[in-house]
Amino acid sequence: MTCPECGQDIYGKGSHYSCESCGSKWKVTFTCEVCKNLPSVAASCGAVSFFCETCNTLKSRESMDKEFVKEN
Ligand SMILES: [Zn+2]
Ligand SMILES: [Zn+2]
Repeated sequence: MTCPECGQDIYGKGSHYSCESCGSKWKVTFTCEVCKNLPSVAASCGAVSFFCETCNTLKSRESMDKEFVKEN
């Protein structure tokens, strides 16, 4: 996943990500790229996974549609 401002990789988990390159912080909303529903989020052992109950599929962050909102 890349920073909308500088194009470098951003890191984080769940819906919060930050860019080490330009210092921006992002809240990311994921929607299923197939059905456009919000996937449910399951957090376990520090890992966060997304599951679309409509498609009955485990989603990857890379494939889903993303909406970036900048945080300060
Ligand atoms: Zn950046
Ligand atoms: Zn879906």
